[in-house]
Amino acid sequence: MSEKEKLPGHYLKSKEMYELPGLVEYRPRVRYRFSAGQAQTRFLEGLKEGKILGVKCPRCGRVYVPPRAYCEYCYAATSEWVELPGTGVIHTAVISYISTFRERMEKPEIVGVVRLDAPGYKEDSYEFAGLFHKLCGVTEEDVKTGRAIGMKVKPRWRPPEERVGDVNDIECFEPVVEG
Ligand SMILES: [Zn+2]
Repeated sequence: MSEKEKLPGHYLKSKEMYELPGLVEYRPRVRYRFSAGQAQTRFLEGLKEGKILGVKCPRCGRVYVPPRAYCEYCYAATSEWVELPGTGVIHTAVISYISTFRERMEKPEIVGVVRLDAPGYKEDSYEFAGLFHKLCGVTEEDVKTGRAIGMKVKPRWRPPEERVGDVNDIECFEPVVEG
């Protein structure tokens, strides 16, 4: 019996949910477009080109990824764009059994926060430029033993023709093989 089958109950599909009397009485049709704004737009365009771009605060030197129009510490307008190497270390890692569609997955994914190599932050500080992403080549054992934390990683980019200008243009972050 699979892990999924061992769980009580069953997954409710939206169709089934709408068929249950009294549960869902209102069916909104929500269609929207979201404007990424100046800073995010440039960041997303950078991803399409295989670049991780950040913005630098002219006062304290912190580099923001994802970019911000203003520094949250100095309130100074950020203006200078910098390209980061993309490398970093794993700050947090978890074994996720829940898909983005909130269904339990047979094969879990390892996801976590990558602390990017970016200027302006103290090494031991909890302030940093980072991205939440999938972690490839990191095993469940690495997560359970804590070995994953601090592992050096780099982005694994999708081929240029597959990139669309979103965060999944990076397939995942994977360990940097030294030597
Ligand atoms: Zn600042």
